[in-house]
Amino acid sequence: MEAAIRPETKLIWLESPTNPLLRVCDIKAISELAHKHNLLVVVDNTFLSPYFQNPSELGADIVVHSITKYIAGHSDVIGGAIMLNDKALYEKLKFSQNALGVVPSPFDCYLVLRGLKTLSMRMEKHQSNALAIATWLEGHPKVARVYYPGLKSHPQYEVGLRQATGFGGMISFEINGGEKEAVDFLESLDLFTLAESLGGVESLIEHPALMTHSSITAKERAEAGISDSLIRVSIGCEDKADLIADLEQAFAKI
Ligand SMILES: *Cc1c(COP(=O)(O)O)cnc(C)c1O
Repeated sequence: MEAAIRPETKLIWLESPTNPLLRVCDIKAISELAHKHNLLVVVDNTFLSPYFQNPSELGADIVVHSITKYIAGHSDVIGGAIMLNDKALYEKLKFSQNALGVVPSPFDCYLVLRGLKTLSMRMEKHQSNALAIATWLEGHPKVARVYYPGLKSHPQYEVGLRQATGFGGMISFEINGGEKEAVDFLESLDLFTLAESLGGVESLIEHPALMTHSSITAKERAEAGISDSLIRVSIGCEDKADLIADLEQAFAKI
């Protein structure tokens, strides 16, 4: 990362865990590196939410959230938040917000505040469901690989443990086969809705190569490790036995 810093570099932007491969970045180490070079660090904390991870305590200068996801939690509002402790930077951002008119409506604020009241309960349930399902997927004969930071097999499991109090509700996995098997599997599900968003009480599933990451080239996807057999799941708050039963019947169809 240090080798990538150029004279014109102003900030380092990261997300942890990353979308869609759930890689974990060492936020403290990256913040120390950035500050050594007088750069700002921005962390997109959407995947873990403030319930599980507080990047500002690890050295990040700015934390951003897509409120659309876990914070509102019901897939019925679009919003975002920028959190920071620097008055001068705040004034600059606030000026831009005012000038650009990027303000949420009262009803959107109402939905977000109402959702926020159950953030802790939802995050615990997303996580316990996700850990059970990731463990189950890891032992499934039709699954080639599972990406979930809460599995001991995850390469940055220890980093995740050190910097966050949980692993969240997002899982990605590679199904045996390629695009055809992935699409057949997705079309066979009943309980999981095929959609790009995440972080709501209802489970959503998607195919990054055809959906969220279709706007980047096949070469860029290959370099990023996003294969045509990759499936991303936002585990909701339903009963985990129902979710596993739905996945199992869809696996049986391919
Ligand atoms: C969805 C998402 C965004 C974008 O947020 P919107 O509310 O959809 O505009 C940014 N970062 C992450 C990690 C996301 O999941």
